[in-house]
Amino acid sequence: MVGHWIAGAPTPGSGERLGDVHDPATGRVTRSVALAAPADVEAAVAAARAAFPAWRDASLAKRTAVLFRFRELLNARKGELAELITAEHGKVLSDALGEVSRGQEVVELACGISHLLKGGFSENASTRIDVYSLRQPLGVVSIISPFNFPAMVPMWFFPLAIAAGNTVVLKPSEKDPSAANFIAALWKEAGLPDGVFNVLHGDKVAVDGLLEHPDVASVSFVGSTPIARYVYETGTRHGKRVQALGGAKNHMLVLPDADLDLAADAAVNAGFGSAGERCMAVSALVAVDSIADELVAKIRERIATLRTGDGRRGTDMGPLVTGAHRDKVVGYVEAGVREGAELVVDGREVVPDAADEDAVAEGFWLGPTLFDRVGTGMSIYTDEIFGPVLSVLRVSGYDEGLELVNANRYGNGVAIFTNDGGAARRFRNEVQVGMIGVNVPVPVPVAYYSFGGWKASLFGDTHAHGVEGVHFFTRGKVVTERWLDPSHGGLNLGFPQND
Ligand code: NAD
Repeated sequence: MVGHWIAGAPTPGSGERLGDVHDPATGRVTRSVALAAPADVEAAVAAARAAFPAWRDASLAKRTAVLFRFRELLNARKGELAELITAEHGKVLSDALGEVSRGQEVVELACGISHLLKGGFSENASTRIDVYSLRQPLGVVSIISPFNFPAMVPMWFFPLAIAAGNTVVLKPSEKDPSAANFIAALWKEAGLPDGVFNVLHGDKVAVDGLLEHPDVASVSFVGSTPIARYVYETGTRHGKRVQALGGAKNHMLVLPDADLDLAADAAVNAGFGSAGERCMAVSALVAVDSIADELVAKIRERIATLRTGDGRRGTDMGPLVTGAHRDKVVGYVEAGVREGAELVVDGREVVPDAADEDAVAEGFWLGPTLFDRVGTGMSIYTDEIFGPVLSVLRVSGYDEGLELVNANRYGNGVAIFTNDGGAARRFRNEVQVGMIGVNVPVPVPVAYYSFGGWKASLFGDTHAHGVEGVHFFTRGKVVTERWLDPSHGGLNLGFPQND
């Protein structure tokens, strides 16, 4: 059983409700996870609140020493963490390792937080008066994360939050909960004081408890758009600082001058990596008419070489996370056929490379699926499918492609493939999307820039990690200071002016 991690130790909590955790490559239930009751929320927040004063007052040198030790432990043991992720999420091992490495980048950024927390100082802003700014932690911060990156997404937030002096309650996805506890144990080994990093497992009860709790100062949420909107509205109504990252429909626009072999490789990698369960997956390929036939043919050839199966068997693409999610994605494939799109590759026919016959039958399998001639009114285009389904939409040229991308309700990531620098430059200026790749299909920013989309892909105004992350987890103060000497005597009731 996967219990909570509160005040530096695993605990089953109230144990009133449990959820099933599956191995998606076999379909079997492998663990159960505690689903928090309100009393468990209370215990986790109380532990974080109790740990805050001492952690806040720990020097930057002491805090960053813990961060450096955590980084070393994570680096040494990331293989074990990746195995845990594959066993509960289903993504292939190399991909799980990749997500840990990208999360580790934020830990490395947080190791240098001393530099990012420096304030400004203006000597003699007024005569013999100095003005300076400083940034202080918020207190207890909460992180609510999705199933698709059980290590990386929490790591977008907690390294900076902890380095800045906050204490954390992480509520991971109940579908793949074990990574969070593994990380909590690493923190303890690194010397983080008990209660600074807590893990609360659960569902809506846990989330609502955090959103309403008076001792929780902020909420960093990542998940689907309807829940992101709910979290933003509920959290802000309760006076919290909220950043809520939502769903996506990421486009890849391919212009006629692009290298079509590179574009086809990129479309397959970005469309089917992690079985399309990435918020930065490419799900809509926008091809200019003149090259569309050739590009679709190249993508089809490449899909034929992919091996779908158990992520521990050296395959290219694993199963989907749950049976219910696989069925939902299959429902979209059926809808695409019904609505008149051309089904070029049908993933429902996949024969997975699985551990045994039972796993072939019971794993949550769906192979790479390719649709051509998709219309903007079809549900496979309008909805975020979050599976291995790539839709090709055909346009007459750059202008129609840009218009199509900008008309979409989401604005997380986008890519343009072209060898025309002028077109790429126009695109990055004109496209209404937060993260842009130029000949880069999955443009997840490095840790020292910030991650976040526009429109229905993010509620709030602060993106994750980078300088924006440091700002989110700190509050500013400005001090106006004068050390008195005899020249300062006398009464003056006027509004203070600078001289
Ligand atoms: P989800 O919205 O179902 O769940 C996210 C979190 O919210 C989980 O911790 C879950 O327990 C909780 N939750 C679920 N239903 C809830 C409810 N009714 N009330 C309160 N809390 C609830 O998302 P998911 O299926 O775990 O993850 C996939 C989604 O996350 C996709 O839409 C994907 O695009 C998105 N995502 C976005 C980004 C980004 O950076 N924008 C990154 C990763 C994933």
